[in-house]
Amino acid sequence: MRFWDVTKILRTAYDTLLGFLVTLKYYFSPAITYQYPKEKKPVPERFRGILAFHPEICISCEMCVRVCPSDVISMAWERNEATKKKDLLWYQIDYAKCNVCRLCEEVCPTKIKSIHHTNEYEMVFEKRDDFIVKWGPSTEDTVTGGAAKQSWFPFTREAREDLKKKGKTPVAGKGTR
Ligand code: SF4
Ligand code: SF4
Repeated sequence: MRFWDVTKILRTAYDTLLGFLVTLKYYFSPAITYQYPKEKKPVPERFRGILAFHPEICISCEMCVRVCPSDVISMAWERNEATKKKDLLWYQIDYAKCNVCRLCEEVCPTKIKSIHHTNEYEMVFEKRDDFIVKWGPSTEDTVTGGAAKQSWFPFTREAREDLKKKGKTPVAGKGTR
């Protein structure tokens, strides 16, 4: 093989030029990169994000517990002899085990779903135990501290910003869809 192989030199130059042309084409195209976490890509309407739970609406029917394929939800209730209804004692979600299948939301019989997915997806915990969030009969009774530290409570950015403006700390489970 000769050192000055003109065909090879021309082919290499052509390939290099082709590469630069591709770069040039994308240089002038609109950017599709999101500068996360400053910029966030809007999520689809039926996005299955972090679960929210509303103890005030829940009727303790346990359907979400039975339908969950990953054994994520557990709860306890007691019969109220005066009202003949079930009073919620506590409700627990182990977020680490949830596979975001939406079965619990679909089966939940309350008109406004007591348990439902949100648009939030940023979930960071320092300890394994913090993934387990336990609610009492009302939003103020949340037992576990882990989730209360999370930015995604109370589940909607609007609600969080509203609370921040009022100088309040978001409380677990107090979100709206
Ligand atoms: S979304 Fe699916 S896995 Fe997660 S708690 Fe609901 S039923 Fe269980
Ligand atoms: S299905 Fe809905 S109402 Fe029934 S226990 Fe679960 S969250 Fe409560």
